[in-house]
Amino acid sequence: MTGQEVLVRCEDAARTFGRGPTAVVAVHGATCQIRAGDRIAIAGPSGSGKSTLLHLMAALEKPTSGQVTWPGLSQRPPAGAIGVVFQGPSLIPALTAVENAALPLVLAGVADSAAQLRAAHALALVDATDLANRLPEELSGGQAQRVAIARVLALGPRLVLADEPTGQLDRTTGQHIIDVLLTAADELGAALVVTTHDPTVAQRLTEQWAMHEGRLVPASTARPPAGTEPRQKGRTP
Ligand code: ADP
Ligand code: MG
Repeated sequence: MTGQEVLVRCEDAARTFGRGPTAVVAVHGATCQIRAGDRIAIAGPSGSGKSTLLHLMAALEKPTSGQVTWPGLSQRPPAGAIGVVFQGPSLIPALTAVENAALPLVLAGVADSAAQLRAAHALALVDATDLANRLPEELSGGQAQRVAIARVLALGPRLVLADEPTGQLDRTTGQHIIDVLLTAADELGAALVVTTHDPTVAQRLTEQWAMHEGRLVPASTARPPAGTEPRQKGRTP
């Protein structure tokens, strides 16, 4: 069953920045798997290592020890198969929304007309067709985030990694962005991982993991003792 296919496997994967006494262990040995169809939230405060873990999964960072593999993906490292929605604004100011969404395809060598068509389809997936010809400066925060998501979807990823996609938005707009991500992941048949420091965002995903000072911890041990509140559904990472 494709639902069990492992897209990313982290085995004791760690990432340290710097050397010697000033070294920072951003991620201590993390062991986890992302499977096709997964909808996972990684919650944790600022500086807990969420972005670094996501970058390890996306092959944007190499682990300093342990390993990250992509058993279910044909390319290694998995360019195109994994789409990353980065933390913070990332649209090119001089390009319209549809040009921004088409850019990764154009850079990958897709013909301009085909890239525009796929970008337009991706904008439709995030309900942003009417924004196609706007420049980033003419977009609200939520609209810009939808275009940034469309740019990732246009590549047809098997896995979408969204790094605090609601971090700079008000709560209502943030919840709408989560709706957009969940719907798009369903439409594409992609797995979805969302990092957040907001528990109400984390609860929108099927499974909740947590990062604490660089350590990936199962949701059950990050929550109050059993009996004090309803148990979260989900498996240990
Ligand atoms: P989060 O996304 O949860 O805020 P990060 O993964 O960005 O956490 O950072 C985890 C820790 O690693 C922090 O202490 C941060 O300062 C450090 N860190 C992250 N990236 C770098 C880097 N490129 N160079 C040095 N330190 C870094
Ligand atoms: Mg971060």
